[in-house]
Amino acid sequence: MKCKEFRDLISEFLDGEMVISIRDEFLIHLLSCEECKKEFSVYLKENIMLRKFLQDVDPPSGMLLSVINMITKGKINKEE
Ligand SMILES: [Zn+2]
Repeated sequence: MKCKEFRDLISEFLDGEMVISIRDEFLIHLLSCEECKKEFSVYLKENIMLRKFLQDVDPPSGMLLSVINMITKGKINKEE
């Protein structure tokens, strides 16, 4: 997945409308791309509901759990 695709998909992810197969690719890119982590963290601040969304995912994949840990430990926002 390219950065542009990732950014186009962020709102879809936050809306919970993303299909599982794309979600995994999305999360892989999120975990591997520093630029997109920063971009994503901006959206996170504006979408507090995402926390609830992440908690409601059933079942959470290993990749998604990594993202949840990253978010709850504040690693995404380390530069601020
Ligand atoms: Zn990227």
